[in-house]
Amino acid sequence: MRPEALFSLFKPLQTLPGVGPRLAVLLEKLVGAHVVDLIWHLPVGIVDRSHQPRISGIEPGRLVTVTVVVEAHQPAARAGLPSRVRCADETGTLDLVFFHARGDWLQKQLPVGSTRVVSGRAEFYHGQPQIAHPDLIVDPAEFDPSAAVEPVYGMTAGLAPKTLAKIMTAALSSAPDLPEWLDGPLKAREGWADWREALMTAHSPQSLAELDPQSPARQRLAYDELLAGQLALALIRRAQRRLKGRELKGDGRLRSAIEARLPYRLTNAQQGSLAEIFADMAAPARMLRLLQGDVGSGKTVVALLAMLAAVEAGTQAALMAPTEILARQHLETLAPMLEGSGVRLEILTGRDKGKAREALLARLAAGEIDILVGTHAVFQDDVAFADLGLAVVDEQHRFGVHQRLQLSGKGSAVDMLVMTATPIPRTLTLTAYGDMEVSRLTEKPPGRQPVKTIVLPSTRLGEVVSAISRKRAEGARIYWVCPLVDESEQMDLAAATDRQVMLEAEFGPGVGLIHGKMKAADKDKVMADFAAGHLWMLVATTVIEVGVNVPEATVMVIEHAERFGLAQLHQLRGRVGRGSGESTCLLVYDGQPGETAKARLRIMRETEDGFVIAEEDLRLRGAGDVLGTKQSGLPQFRLADLAEHTPLLEIARDDARLILKMDGELQSDRGKALRTLLYLFERDAAVRYLRSG
Ligand code: ADP
Ligand code: MG
Repeated sequence: MRPEALFSLFKPLQTLPGVGPRLAVLLEKLVGAHVVDLIWHLPVGIVDRSHQPRISGIEPGRLVTVTVVVEAHQPAARAGLPSRVRCADETGTLDLVFFHARGDWLQKQLPVGSTRVVSGRAEFYHGQPQIAHPDLIVDPAEFDPSAAVEPVYGMTAGLAPKTLAKIMTAALSSAPDLPEWLDGPLKAREGWADWREALMTAHSPQSLAELDPQSPARQRLAYDELLAGQLALALIRRAQRRLKGRELKGDGRLRSAIEARLPYRLTNAQQGSLAEIFADMAAPARMLRLLQGDVGSGKTVVALLAMLAAVEAGTQAALMAPTEILARQHLETLAPMLEGSGVRLEILTGRDKGKAREALLARLAAGEIDILVGTHAVFQDDVAFADLGLAVVDEQHRFGVHQRLQLSGKGSAVDMLVMTATPIPRTLTLTAYGDMEVSRLTEKPPGRQPVKTIVLPSTRLGEVVSAISRKRAEGARIYWVCPLVDESEQMDLAAATDRQVMLEAEFGPGVGLIHGKMKAADKDKVMADFAAGHLWMLVATTVIEVGVNVPEATVMVIEHAERFGLAQLHQLRGRVGRGSGESTCLLVYDGQPGETAKARLRIMRETEDGFVIAEEDLRLRGAGDVLGTKQSGLPQFRLADLAEHTPLLEIARDDARLILKMDGELQSDRGKALRTLLYLFERDAAVRYLRSG
């Protein structure tokens, strides 16, 4: 249960003074629903009102804060012209300029004869100093010159900075003192303050330097978040390891027979990964291993050999894909490899119904199926294996840590191998998969033709179309990826539909369309038509299934390439260059892309190495959205920035491991404080792995 000390932070925002239903909606959009979400919303800038000259000392362009006496109001001469308020001090006069101001508002804010502190950007008009729309107008009694530096927060439309500032103050004052969860020597070495003090400091930066992610206050808060994450993962990982595993040791009979029949030699990376997998399977603990490898790096054969090891050991194996198409594709790849080996292979998807399904389940339960390929359908309650030894999940980033836990809870002592086609930087692996061991396929099978990548502006779309005519004449199959219009799938779909109509008008029939809103069966049909060559071009929204293999597809056009993230571009491009033919990827950008977008396109042109691309992506964008998709399953950080705080992440990982070694159930004083930390960062699920959690 959440400790009482945190109750005030987990109240809804509406409980703060001044937050009504309308504001609550705005704030929720901006930060989240609870007080704690607001305090994690750190300033992104400062307004420095410490420059407080006399009027005669005002320089144009500077942010000035001046104490003045209001002399006269001069209403707008006619619509469209500003109202002016003439102010003065003993050194000169200053005009405050307001467009569209309501007369009585100005009179109230700036009564003639009153003294006011006004602040804003100074300008000169015909030699007369003025401030247009001062952003601060207060009675001198309300102005604290020593608190002249104000934080600036990221905003949302409809929320006034002043309003947010007030609410923030209320939120911060409800932040309790919390027991210290940091390791004393670490805290001392880094010179970090207590949690509450660090929080307050982070919210009242006095200089730009204090906005730096490396400032001590921000470091401490980031570290807390990272530590909570690493501790949570360490707890989950330990729970996994406590699950009894079994020693799956085969005699190598099937593996060597199948390997001998492969038309190629395994790469060193494949052999290395397999050695790690076999060692895990043979060990008494339960395996939980991630196999990371770019599209085309040869994960399937690794999965197959691992499954064969399980079959040799007398158990069954399952291979799960996120979609029907991918499951069928796995079946089609594996079936010929297993021919004549005596290994019994079947498929189970959501489409199997009725008698056929019952018969299949009966054979599975009787141990008459050795390897079952399938979709989520495999995890339905009535699916029982005779003896499942190994589950391979081809996850393509669709499952998070928690779903993985669910899966492994299904069988008893099932070894788990998770495969992902999205190479992610090492630091992210640590945060997203800290509960798993990792094998990486860093090397591609030999003989792969590089994909020629061309970057060009949309003004040359005509050239793209004629290039496509040529390629078509050569018999190429072509993907045309439509722009990501916005967050709405509806709009993406509209754009793709338009494009398909246009391309069909240009080229005649044979241009298919695939998008996320289609029924699985319809998608399969279109994919199958494309794979078989009944369609020569496939217009797609970005939802085309990752990993779908059409070796004849040798051209990919990506429109509005500047809108895509690096990882996404890389994933898309990975769909061509899979056969022996020479492949081309045309990245078409629109307008004048910004520096980052340009850098992304350049990197795409320079390399095809997914791990390099992933590291560059992290560098360019920060960790927040490296994968550019919500379904990435990667944790999002509020305070930590992995592009900045990687060293802290490593300390946090070691710290977490040490903590569990010394105080496994978090019973000491520090241990109890750490429980509070876990709740503070909403890692409640991890706490449940503690005894008396
Ligand atoms: P992934 O699933 O990692 O995207 P696949 O397993 O589909 O990649 O493999 C891509 C292609 O590479 C397949 O056609 C496969 O037969 C081939 N392949 C796999 N390993 C090797 C290897 N060691 N040498 C040559 N080709 C290989
Ligand atoms: Mg694959």
